[in-house]
Amino acid sequence: MSSAFGVQLDQRVTDFVARPRKLLVNGEWVEAASGKTFETYNPATGEVLANVAEGDKEDIDRAVRAARAAFDKGPWSRMTVSERGRLIWKLADLIEEHAQEFAELETLDNGKPLTVSRAADVPLAVDLFRYMAGWASKIEGSTIPISVPYTPGAVYHAYTIREPVGVVGQIIPWNFPLLMAAWKLGPALAAGCTIILKPAEQTPLSALRLGELIVEAGFPEGVVNIVPGFGETAGAALAAHDDVDKVAFTGSTEVGRLIVQAAVGNLKKVSLELGGKSPNVVFKDADLDLAVKGAASAIFFNHGQCCCAGSRLYVERDVFDQVVEGIADQAKKITVGPGLDPATTMGPLVSEEQLNRVCGYLESGSSEGARTVTGGKRVGEKGYFVEPTVLVDATHEMKVVKEEIFGPVVAAIPFESADEIREKANDSSYGLAAGIWTKDIGKAHALASSMRAGTVWINCYNIFDAALPFGGYKESGWGRDMGHDALENYTETKAVCARLS
Ligand code: ADP
Repeated sequence: MSSAFGVQLDQRVTDFVARPRKLLVNGEWVEAASGKTFETYNPATGEVLANVAEGDKEDIDRAVRAARAAFDKGPWSRMTVSERGRLIWKLADLIEEHAQEFAELETLDNGKPLTVSRAADVPLAVDLFRYMAGWASKIEGSTIPISVPYTPGAVYHAYTIREPVGVVGQIIPWNFPLLMAAWKLGPALAAGCTIILKPAEQTPLSALRLGELIVEAGFPEGVVNIVPGFGETAGAALAAHDDVDKVAFTGSTEVGRLIVQAAVGNLKKVSLELGGKSPNVVFKDADLDLAVKGAASAIFFNHGQCCCAGSRLYVERDVFDQVVEGIADQAKKITVGPGLDPATTMGPLVSEEQLNRVCGYLESGSSEGARTVTGGKRVGEKGYFVEPTVLVDATHEMKVVKEEIFGPVVAAIPFESADEIREKANDSSYGLAAGIWTKDIGKAHALASSMRAGTVWINCYNIFDAALPFGGYKESGWGRDMGHDALENYTETKAVCARLS
């Protein structure tokens, strides 16, 4: 598999997938304690791509012990913040040096077009580490004037220190494998934590390659441990482990609930970035050309496998037909195919399970009375391809409007007034993101302020930056990734109070 579709794969990628991959524990690449391995598949073909050591409870336990020792006693705990920041920066440089390799690995493992891995996933990961490298030396407490009514006349010097929360378990999904690893590792490292990262079983390869660069960058042993494996085994063991101080999770709301339950034992801190069913609102006074292209990309980017995908599209009645037709035209222009093919603009879904799930929603939509304007079917028999799909005649009672599909399927619904849309947009158990398209700036900001969502995009969509916090209201999660807000997940505040007189 050294070349496909005229793309000559980087020799290091070919070598990397050819050999069974191991776990990174305490700075060493080791087999799973059970000796078991699992297969990861190329979603464009359904064929086996690589073999990976299958971490389980015992491996998680070993990794937690390594992370604990590195946190309590290792050189990491004595490093200056400047040294910590430089290591994180160096990791960013190394990823950048290997950008093409990461892009190819990501496309092979996840299925997304190589052009997208190259333009989005890899540079965003590099940028995230650089942004967080800067924070390592800027996590500050404050001095606090206090009065203490029951000790009249006493003088105190009071201040806060922000300390790393400790040993952190991080469980990430398969939709942006490298980038999700960066979102989690970056702030935890900047804060001085030690980590056990569990990549998704569908896409462990880029995290494992990242592990090699973490070792190469010179992070001390045990600071980052990487244990691939299944959610119900390795993931569950990590979430429940009594010596883990905090668990950070990105994935489905359903598994988010399991993580919270597992964390109850030692009451570890929990942050969650979960599902979404994000409203995208197009007013008739929008730049409709921009709105049509934006709304199409809001749902079709990454094959709809984005927790913030604009999957509920609300269009003001007067322009409904025009906008829906425009988005359907955009959908028809999408070339569905293998991610390595340079002509491809939409790759396969990540797995057979996702293919079945998305096709199940397509059937449920039509049986509940939604009408398919374009798309609606699987493409071909091999690989996990689905047509970009636009549904109309959909109501808020239908599963396709209520539930997260995580595929390239948008339901378009007309609305009459700003009051109506405020209510409809918030009529969801999720609250991750929202989009607004209008030239009326007052209307845009008024609606943005009434949206119960962690991110609101105005006249744009899917705009991410390492400095912009991302996370959800309601059942879309707890806490924020990225920006300086992310550091809150990985620090404890200690108040120190000294009596001076
Ligand atoms: P999806 O449904 O999109 O595949 P999941 O929420 O199932 O997303 O998976 C996201 C991550 O959570 C993956 O790394 C997966 O292995 C992990 N996971 C799944 N189930 C559990 C569980 N019970 N406990 C901990 N982690 C889990």
